[in-house]
Amino acid sequence: MASAGGIQIPNRLPLLLTHEGVLLPGSTVRFSVDSPRNMQLVGQRLLKGTSLKSTIIGVIPNTRDPEQDSDPLPPVHQIGTAGIAVQVVGSNWPKPHYTLLITGLCRFRVSSLLKERPFVLAEVEQLDKLEQYTTSTAEGATAEDGELGELSQRFYQAAVQLLGMLDMSVPVVAKFRRLLDSLPRETLPDVVASMIRTSNKEKLQVLDAVRLEERFRKALPMLTRQIEGLKLLQKTRKMSPDSDKRVLSVRKGGVFPGRQLNLDEDDEGEDGDDMAALERKIQGASMPEAALRVCLKELKRLKKMPQSMPEYALTRNYLELMVELPWSKSTKDCLDIRAARTLLDNDHYAMDKLKRRVLEYLAVRQLKTSLKGPILCFVGPPGVGKTSVGRSIARTLGREFHRIALGGVCDQSDIRGHRRTYVGSMPGRIINGLKAVGVNNPVFLLDEVDKLGKSLQGDPAAALLEVLDPEQNHSFTDHYLNVAFDLSQVLFIATANTTATIPPALLDRMEVLQVPGYTQEEKLEIAHRHLIPNQLEQHGLTPQQLLLPQDSTQNVISRYTREAGVRSLERKIGAICRAVAVKVAEGHRVKEATPSGQEQQQEDKAAPPEMPIVIDHVALKDILGPPLFDMEVSERLTLPGVALGLAWTPLGGEIMFVEASRMEGEGQLTLTGQLGDVMKESAHLAISWLRANARTYQLTNLVGGPDPMEGTDIHLHFPAGAVTKDGPSAGVTMVTCLASLFSGRLVRSDVAMTGEITLRGLVLPVSSTSGPTSWFSSSAGRSFKTEKVHFLSTSGPGFRSEPFDPHIHPSIVSGLSPPDWMSSGSASGSAPTGSSFELLLVSWLRTAAGTWSHKLLSDFSSSLLPVSSPAALTHLFSSFLFFHPKL
Ligand code: ADP
Repeated sequence: MASAGGIQIPNRLPLLLTHEGVLLPGSTVRFSVDSPRNMQLVGQRLLKGTSLKSTIIGVIPNTRDPEQDSDPLPPVHQIGTAGIAVQVVGSNWPKPHYTLLITGLCRFRVSSLLKERPFVLAEVEQLDKLEQYTTSTAEGATAEDGELGELSQRFYQAAVQLLGMLDMSVPVVAKFRRLLDSLPRETLPDVVASMIRTSNKEKLQVLDAVRLEERFRKALPMLTRQIEGLKLLQKTRKMSPDSDKRVLSVRKGGVFPGRQLNLDEDDEGEDGDDMAALERKIQGASMPEAALRVCLKELKRLKKMPQSMPEYALTRNYLELMVELPWSKSTKDCLDIRAARTLLDNDHYAMDKLKRRVLEYLAVRQLKTSLKGPILCFVGPPGVGKTSVGRSIARTLGREFHRIALGGVCDQSDIRGHRRTYVGSMPGRIINGLKAVGVNNPVFLLDEVDKLGKSLQGDPAAALLEVLDPEQNHSFTDHYLNVAFDLSQVLFIATANTTATIPPALLDRMEVLQVPGYTQEEKLEIAHRHLIPNQLEQHGLTPQQLLLPQDSTQNVISRYTREAGVRSLERKIGAICRAVAVKVAEGHRVKEATPSGQEQQQEDKAAPPEMPIVIDHVALKDILGPPLFDMEVSERLTLPGVALGLAWTPLGGEIMFVEASRMEGEGQLTLTGQLGDVMKESAHLAISWLRANARTYQLTNLVGGPDPMEGTDIHLHFPAGAVTKDGPSAGVTMVTCLASLFSGRLVRSDVAMTGEITLRGLVLPVSSTSGPTSWFSSSAGRSFKTEKVHFLSTSGPGFRSEPFDPHIHPSIVSGLSPPDWMSSGSASGSAPTGSSFELLLVSWLRTAAGTWSHKLLSDFSSSLLPVSSPAALTHLFSSFLFFHPKL
């Protein structure tokens, strides 16, 4: 069956004699070559030749024993396959050899051997048409008829049947399927025989079958045998499903790394369902285009991954997070300013200024929906209701609320997430928060922004900048997600105790709203309107069971708590509720005071308690223990050498008893209480000024000498020794304290002071930054009834009282002139009046609701004195600091 025309193989072919296998046309086989003749063939023909022709060789199966493949050429098999060498690989290990990859082209018959050395060269006759491998199925099929046609049809069907029983995900099978449909039928026997499990002997039979019919006849039984074998295998698998599962799981575990899954195909089993469900979720999550693309890409990777790979779980978690994120889910704002006002008023007593600003903010939001406004930042001491106002804002807007605690966060990954390359990587708090609330327009409360840390892992404040910047946050990219998420709908509110530690760039993006501490009266109202009803409810009590009269609450506020906010007060009320709950549950009566003030214990265990249980001061002492803050300030100021200083802390103002004592010595000054360098210098300033002015103010040493330091050692102590203190503002307190010591006169117990001193006796304003200063004044003012606190200025005749306002403070401070009464003061009439006074003495009695009542304050409004005078200290002594009524 010589080919007529068409593509021809060369007439002379070098022959590769191999006992390794049988090459059939249409298949590709790898041969290892190490016999001398074959090595020569590779070396001289394949490696040296440069034309396509030189890569074509004849492959003749060597049916003899390989051991005999020696010098004399054995009888050569008459039929072989011409093939093209597509790959040649040489190696020296363990002995020199080549590995050839040869694709069979067509059969040939050896006509005559031309030479045997260095390799076998033969004259050949081509038996198959080469074109048949390139023509389409349709053409091939029409050429067949009669017996051959029927045979080829049967063969084709059997091949299809076999295919149906195989796992399409194995690459060979997929290839087989493609071949089956695209190749002409006459090539099928060769292709199928080379692919199914057949022995070399059987393959040789197919090779030798030059006639097409014969070839079909030889190959068909092999094919049917394979089908039967497979059927048997599947039957036994069905009978023992365990092994089936094992096979499946082994395969998933990566035995077949090349396993391919088609995205569009419905996969078998649970895994497939799972993936399909995930894909549906991804499609349904209404993500932006970019995110969707990333998800589909990851899903495609996931499908190819064996489940046992660690990355499988990572990718899966990622996709599940992406699906859960509220890309376009939002709640509808239901803002009604009137309702908002009522709600804010109902939720919070006082804080009018804050509520007004919040309402303004909300009103603007209502008028202009896409507000790129400032981020509100509530700054104030703990427990003044910052968080709870944030929560109310969310309620008035009908939005979800989520609090993100930033205290102690020192890694920017906390905000922005970890890259997915890290083990244990996860998204940042912003994305986690969004996942938790499930909508993209919640109210996020960034709690304690002033307590952000900093570390080697980057600055979280810098990461927050992007979050809070309305220009940037529509494409916030979390490192874990690696795609942009639009945060522009989120309403951010921040809280802090102080602005001093908020990084300036962050502070710049926020509008600071001061939330000052409460006065005692406000605390009383808050307790009765909110805290007590809340606590009663939380402890399962009713107002019919527990009655806390006003004066008891007042008692709790002033004697059991000392704070700017109401958190500790709330806890104390909680403690009272718990105690009463026990009594109610036990059916006991609490101790009750009789109207005459005598206690009367009523131990009637059987009877239910008399309702309501009234908490009077005796019951209070019983439940809360002895009062924690009972000491009167005046009691501590009964000796010379003690003065009250004011200290500023982020948690509210504090008063400090500065103490001094003197003893015989050599003029040394000892300072204790963990003072910083600036404070130590202030102490030296104070002493120098006092020594310089000792004569004027009749300051003496221990034995009455004119130099107070002569033969004397001084010890100055600041309390709370465990806390480091620094800053110049204690200067004026030190002067007062030491002057009291040197003169033997008492300091008035109703005045506390703060201010920096200069060597020549100037007293400078508290702080160069207005923040703490206004904070001082605000806290000071709010500890008492607002209208009772006065800044005094004497630019006009007599005192002029300014209604208290924390924010007008700087203007009040500057340019104050000395009070008239000072210039005519008893000790020094020489005070220059009207000169450039630069002095502030913020008088501060108690910051957090303290033990002093406002009544006391009204008695000595003259002591609330922002005085400024070059000789201000002179006036302090002469006018009011040392003339205590007791002297
Ligand atoms: P902060 O966030 O400022 O530390 P919170 O918002 O947690 O303080 O408030 C502490 C508690 O005090 C809350 O139970 C809150 O309801 C209550 N509270 C604070 N201020 C007020 C107020 N003005 N009216 C009613 N309750 C208040």
